[in-house]
Amino acid sequence: MSAKLIKGTVIREEILAELRAETEELKQKYGRVPGLVTILVGENPASVSYVTLKIKTAKRLGYNEIQDSQSPDITEDALLRLIEKYNHDDDINGILVQLPLPDHIDEKKVLNKIDPDKDVDGFHPVNVGRLMIGGDEVKFPPCTPAAIQEMIVRAGVETKGAEVVVVGRSNIVGKPIANMMMQKGEGANATVTVVHTGTKNLAEHCLRADILIVAAGVPGLVKPEWIKKGACVIDVGVNRVGEKISEKTGKKIAVLSGDVDFEPACERAGFITPVPGGVGPMTITMLMKNTMKSFKYSLGLL
Ligand code: NAP
Repeated sequence: MSAKLIKGTVIREEILAELRAETEELKQKYGRVPGLVTILVGENPASVSYVTLKIKTAKRLGYNEIQDSQSPDITEDALLRLIEKYNHDDDINGILVQLPLPDHIDEKKVLNKIDPDKDVDGFHPVNVGRLMIGGDEVKFPPCTPAAIQEMIVRAGVETKGAEVVVVGRSNIVGKPIANMMMQKGEGANATVTVVHTGTKNLAEHCLRADILIVAAGVPGLVKPEWIKKGACVIDVGVNRVGEKISEKTGKKIAVLSGDVDFEPACERAGFITPVPGGVGPMTITMLMKNTMKSFKYSLGLL
C-alpha cells in the first residue's frame, strides 16, 4: 500500500480539541456556551443512535445540549410550534431535527421552519443559496461536504487549479461539495466535474481527477484503474455489505464498505480515506463546528 490514509478519526480529535478550547475560552469571557437542541420524534433505533452520538459529542465539548424527545404521534402543527419556540430561544444556537419523520409530518415544511441562522445542518434553502453565492455569505456549509473539504485541506492536498471529479449529485453530498470546491477561495478554486448515472464514460472522467470524491452508494463502483496515479480519493460511500460478530462486544455488527475498491485503489492513489473511519466520523464534528460558528455570530464575534 502506498497511499497515505486520511483518517477521519484522527482529524476529528484535532477539531474537537480546538472546539473544546474555544468553548472554554468563550465561557470564561462571556459566561455562556454554545447551545444545541436535538429534536427526536419517535424511537427509530438508527435515529436514537445518531442522536445519542451527537449528544455525547456536544457534552464532551461542554456545549449546552438539549435532547427534546417527542412522541411519534405529535402533530405537524405542534412540531412546528416547538421549532418556533427554539427559534426564539437565545440560549439555543443550533436546531437539529433528526430525520426521518413519521409519514403524517411534512419533512420539508419542518426543516423550512428552522430559523436559517440556527440551521446548523445547512439544509434550509436560505443556506443552500448562501452556499451557492459563496465567500462571506456562507454561514453553515452542510456537514458531510464540509467534512470532505476539511479532510482535503488538513491532508495538505492542493485544491487550487486541481481537477476535481465528484461522483453523485445528491442534495446532501454531491451538489454542495461540487459547489464548494469551485468557489474562489481557500481549500477550493478547483475545476469541477460532476458525474452521475446519466454520464457517458464514467471511467474516463474519474481518471482525469486530481481529487476524486465518490458519493454514489454503490459498493466498489470505482475501480482502481479509474484512479489517476497519486490522486486524492475521498470515499463518502457507506454500504452495508454483510454482518460479523464484534470482537469488542460479541454482538452482531454490520460490515461496511465504501464506493471505491479500497485495497487495489491504495496502490494508485496518493491519498485515500478508509471506510469505516474516513468521512463518517467527521460529519458530527462539523455539526459541532457549525454550532460554534452560530454561537459566535450570536456574540457578534463573526
Ligand atoms: P443518493 O442520494 O442516493 O445519491 C447518489 C448519487 O450517486 C446520485 O446522484 C446517483 O446518480 C449517483 N450514482 C448512483 N449510482 C451511480 C453509478 N452507477 N454511476 C454514476 N453515478 C451513480 O446518495 P447520498 O445521500 O449522496 O449518499 C451517497 C453515499 O454516501 C451513500 O453510501 C451514503 O450512505 C454515504 N453518505 C455518507 C455520509 C457520511 O459518511 N457521513 C453522509 C452522507 C452520505 P443519479 O442522480 O443519476 O441517480
